[in-house]
Amino acid sequence: MLNRLHCDLSRQPYVGRFAPSPSGALHFGSLIAALGSYLRARSQQGKWLIRIEDIDPPREVKGAADDILRTLEAYGFEWDDAPLYQSLRTEAYQAHIDALLAQDKAYFCQCSRKQIQAMGGVYDGRCHRLPAVQALKMGAVRIVNTARVQEFDDNLMGHINVDSHFAAEDFIIKRSDGLYAYQLAVVLDDAYQGITEVVRGCDLIEASCRQLSLYQNFGLTAPQWLHLPLACISKGFKLSKQNHAQAIDTRNPQTSLNAALVFLGQAPVENQTDVAQMLAQAVVQFQLSAIPQQSEILIEP
Ligand code: GLU
Repeated sequence: MLNRLHCDLSRQPYVGRFAPSPSGALHFGSLIAALGSYLRARSQQGKWLIRIEDIDPPREVKGAADDILRTLEAYGFEWDDAPLYQSLRTEAYQAHIDALLAQDKAYFCQCSRKQIQAMGGVYDGRCHRLPAVQALKMGAVRIVNTARVQEFDDNLMGHINVDSHFAAEDFIIKRSDGLYAYQLAVVLDDAYQGITEVVRGCDLIEASCRQLSLYQNFGLTAPQWLHLPLACISKGFKLSKQNHAQAIDTRNPQTSLNAALVFLGQAPVENQTDVAQMLAQAVVQFQLSAIPQQSEILIEP
């Protein structure tokens, strides 16, 4: 069993983050990710940063980024530094992609979804061997995935293994519609912000292998990982903006905050109405070992 309770993060100052996409208001599922990452950072006297992941305009809801920040404030969260907006980082992403392409560490791909399905759902790398496709410089951009990370140690969930075909895939780092892929942006930004541990929901646990592959491919130091249980409305269905999760109540944050604490196995903070004080108390009481080691927890919708 991984020594999860004694992982040594003490050698460098802890830097954590919460990285919401502005595709809607904060709901109970996102509150759990915000709270879990906050408690973990503050209980180690660490920094807690916010990054707004606004690089997917078609999925963005106007005003959602500001609304998320106001909601976090209403819940008593205080962040360090100014929030980082990914939409202001596209030059860095493109420069990185250009450098990878120049070194043959990435390549263009023009395969359709249908073609990839016919390959069994995992891309087989064929465009890399087609000079005609590369000469066109059009289509999606894929990483030459030499690292193929298949496993890692999670500070809550223990040892994680993913499917070897998934781990070996040359995955997309820039989409054919010109948008930067989440995997690329998240790695470059976590490295840029000096994040030492990524705390987020278990829905991204497989993505962490891809991100670890990118850290290795790019020669960057990877953070540690801690994936929290997901709030699900039924088995396999997480509470999400897609299934119309309700926005959390900003007029009565105490109730949701305590519900999120209990969800994370922590004692609720009673007899306290000031949310900032509640959070401060929750930081003092925080116990990593009390968080359930379950990828999903069912809640009442
Ligand atoms: N922006 C992602 C989301 O809102 C989270 C990304 C991450 O924490 O790495 O689901």
